[in-house]
Amino acid sequence: MKTEIPYDRFAHVPERIFGLVDLAYNLWWSWHSSASVLFKQLNREEWKMSRHNPVRMLQDTPPRYFERAATNPEFLRRYDIIMHRFRQYMEPRTSWFAQHYPGRVPLTIAYLSSEFGVHHSLPFYAGGLGVLAGDHIKAASDLGVPTVAVGFMYAEGYLHQHIEANGWQKNVAEILDRDAAPVLRVLDDNGRQLVVQVPLLDPPIHVAVWKVQVGRVPLYLLDTHIDENLPENRSISHRLYLKEIESRLRQEVVLGIGGRKVIHTLGIDYSAMHLNEGHSAFALLERLRERIVAGMSFEEAREQVRGTSIFTTHTPVPAAHDVFPEDLMSKYFRNYCSSLGLTWDEFMALGEDPHNPGAGFNMTAFAFRMSRFHNGVSKKHGEVAREMWQPLWPEHPVEKVPIDYVTNGVHVPTWLNHRIEWLIDRYMDPIHPDWREDYDNPTIWEVIDEIPDEELWREHQWLKMKLFARIRERKRLKWAGHRDEPANLAAEGLMLDTSALTIGFARRFAEYKRADLIFQDLDRLDRIVNNRWRPVQFIFAGKAHPADERGKQILQRIYLYAQDPRFGGRIAFVEDYDEQLAHYMVHGVDVWMNTPVPLMEASGTSGMKAGMNGVLNLSVLDGWWIEGYNGRNGWAIEGRPATMEGIEPDAEMLYDLIENEIAPLYYSRTMDDIPHKWVRMMKESIKSIAPQYSSIRMLKEYITRYYPSVCTYATGSGRQMAGLEEVCLPR
Ligand SMILES: *Cc1c(COP(=O)(O)O)cnc(C)c1O
Repeated sequence: MKTEIPYDRFAHVPERIFGLVDLAYNLWWSWHSSASVLFKQLNREEWKMSRHNPVRMLQDTPPRYFERAATNPEFLRRYDIIMHRFRQYMEPRTSWFAQHYPGRVPLTIAYLSSEFGVHHSLPFYAGGLGVLAGDHIKAASDLGVPTVAVGFMYAEGYLHQHIEANGWQKNVAEILDRDAAPVLRVLDDNGRQLVVQVPLLDPPIHVAVWKVQVGRVPLYLLDTHIDENLPENRSISHRLYLKEIESRLRQEVVLGIGGRKVIHTLGIDYSAMHLNEGHSAFALLERLRERIVAGMSFEEAREQVRGTSIFTTHTPVPAAHDVFPEDLMSKYFRNYCSSLGLTWDEFMALGEDPHNPGAGFNMTAFAFRMSRFHNGVSKKHGEVAREMWQPLWPEHPVEKVPIDYVTNGVHVPTWLNHRIEWLIDRYMDPIHPDWREDYDNPTIWEVIDEIPDEELWREHQWLKMKLFARIRERKRLKWAGHRDEPANLAAEGLMLDTSALTIGFARRFAEYKRADLIFQDLDRLDRIVNNRWRPVQFIFAGKAHPADERGKQILQRIYLYAQDPRFGGRIAFVEDYDEQLAHYMVHGVDVWMNTPVPLMEASGTSGMKAGMNGVLNLSVLDGWWIEGYNGRNGWAIEGRPATMEGIEPDAEMLYDLIENEIAPLYYSRTMDDIPHKWVRMMKESIKSIAPQYSSIRMLKEYITRYYPSVCTYATGSGRQMAGLEEVCLPR
């Protein structure tokens, strides 16, 4: 089984710089700013036109650009350096993992997720869960942790958001051009694309297999859009989270059981499986079945599967936990159940939710039962999950329920803006030449104090300008294409003022996120926004799920306020939030606002991205911010429950903070026009957030806390061990 870059499509690229093609097909380039600069230098216009997709750009760039580059000594010098770095990265003599767990064994982790956000050219994510999964595998690559990832090829994953003049969200689908994206066909021995049949389904479902190379980690993607499938099954992988329940079930069968089968077919030996949320939990069923078919007893098989499985639960929101009714389960799992040697009732009991026994097969409850290691994604969420799932462990009081936590983190090289990165380079002590590989180490970040206030402030202003320019340019193009209503121009940020304090809010428009909290008291908001000396503006962005009417209503309400002349164009809603716009926003606003209903935000990650760029968090104390807030790196809102009437206490506190603390601090300038106290907070934010909320801190926790114990089970030795090298042999 192999993948091959379709080199014949790049015949116009000269030999001397042909390595660019290899670089384009490995997302390594996307978190090494010097590599993206190389693509940009080759062909600036096409780089922009392709929305930073080098595969497309290299295909569409005329030969003369390559000829010019291949004879330009400056370009060649950069090219050689970057290709050298790339090759060294891909074939390391040492990695963190190899150093800490030296020796004999490759321990491989299979990491399954229904979404992966690795780059905006690959629309395989809906929001935070997917971006987290992408950041997780990038960190695995950086640390050299042997990992294979499995997810879906959602060809219609792009639902572009278009807001009509009345504020209503319309979704416009765009189909991924597989040949112009950094994805490769996995080929079978005959040189055709590998197709795998999902076991035990009638009529059968097949998946074609693709691969995205994420540094050293391969991400395999399942695609049902192939001729072998019945028409109704081809659409299984078209989009994320199909609403209709039977389609959703088929999707999860394909991901879990099909995903496991694909790993097997590829001949990958893994020691442990890590499920990122419950959608892929049927994989554990398939692991059970394989062992039972091979002659193990059910109990023995269950102990082995549990002992080698890690399950991370990501949300307390009930609607996010899939439950499949019994009649549907029976349609797909009757055969399956008998091959496990279970009665139907025993089978259904594996997925019984103790809160609601008759409801059907609950994927989260099943994943908990079938894994020995499970965690929430922040300290608080660990508590919430223990309380929520205590009935699964009736013998334990809540505080003894075996659900742990590992607080999320984000991939610093992806989310730290390169301008800030270069600033750090300039002031970094030469004793840390490799600081980029050590970015979860807090001492590295003390360098921030060396940076003069005016330099950090200047970079921040530059990033703010980039955001505003991006907003205007998009709007201008749309207007020029006669595709926009005049009323939308003000609403979508044309009147934003770069010198005004700017507060950003961007995330999915789920109801619990309370995007509309600041609109509780319009007169108060009016005073804040239109303050003559200290104006405040708000930029909103985010998509509602296409089936979420409530989310769309909240969005519409905000959009209509943004159109209202009363707010003077200082409230904006920017269309079509995605990973790329997220970059602009978390770098370019002054304050990052987050106002979820308390206890509903398991972690949240966009605030980490903002905070490490010196954008100050203003957030309800929930999720990660309970741990992250230190009194000097942003502002905290207590998160008090709503009362039946009047203004919500959280809204009140938000107004008070903005009016009495945030705006005065921002506008208190010295002679040099720099708000030094504000910059001090920015520095504190970067220093306190970047190392602690980095994905390598997170991954190291998973590795040191869970993976060794998993290995003990994997090898059946049961031995206590000092490190993985003791017992981790591939099975
Ligand atoms: C980081 C990120 C998120 C997650 O945002 P939170 O609401 O803070 O969890 C969602 N969407 C995109 C595109 C992101 O980059």
